[in-house]
Amino acid sequence: MISDAEVERFFATLAAANPDPLPELQYSSVFELLVAVMLSAQATDAGVNKATPALFARAPSAQAMLALGLEEITQHIRSIGLYRTKARNLLQTCALLVERHDGEVPHSRQALEALPGVGRKTANVVLNVAFGEPTIAVDTHVFRVANRSGLAPGRNPLQVEQLLLRRVPAAYLQHAHHWLILHGRYVCLARRPLCESCRVSAWCEHAWCEHGRNLQSRAQSARSPQRPPESP
Ligand code: SF4
Repeated sequence: MISDAEVERFFATLAAANPDPLPELQYSSVFELLVAVMLSAQATDAGVNKATPALFARAPSAQAMLALGLEEITQHIRSIGLYRTKARNLLQTCALLVERHDGEVPHSRQALEALPGVGRKTANVVLNVAFGEPTIAVDTHVFRVANRSGLAPGRNPLQVEQLLLRRVPAAYLQHAHHWLILHGRYVCLARRPLCESCRVSAWCEHAWCEHGRNLQSRAQSARSPQRPPESP
């Protein structure tokens, strides 16, 4: 596990490169955000973004989604993986939003996680993005980057989340999961991490390069007094 000082430099570097990271899912309301995140489970944001404009045009609220009905919801999202299950969960979630929350998305972890198809990760995204809470949603990218880099090793997403919450400096908590998601999606790739162009390799305990040359020595030397410039 990397040191607290290295964690600070890791996030300072990501923050300097992208001070105001945004979700890649497209939405224009808290309800649409919840739906988009539900649909994104085991699917790409790009794939969800292709399907949701037509769906949201027909059903921009929980009430409208209920009125749309299962068949039409299913047709709108059939290009997304697990679409039948997601369509059922979406309809049941909208029914509960109307029944329990006047059609609004609740600002409460407990109430969110009581909705069908809404787990801890989805609740964390909604609490963070819609309500500004410093939660960290651990998806496959965050899990990989946290373990590989030594930021927050853990055997499961909850362990990683709890360790990140303890280790990420307060100044970076709000955007931490966005920076880690984007880093995992575009740089710290699952099969072949792009260590040679990674801006945080100096603080990563597991730096690789595609030709088998291990960048660990570079990272270690960067921790010495001759640390390289910290600009992106
Ligand atoms: S140096 Fe490599 S393994 Fe470490 S965070 Fe960067 S891309 Fe990932």
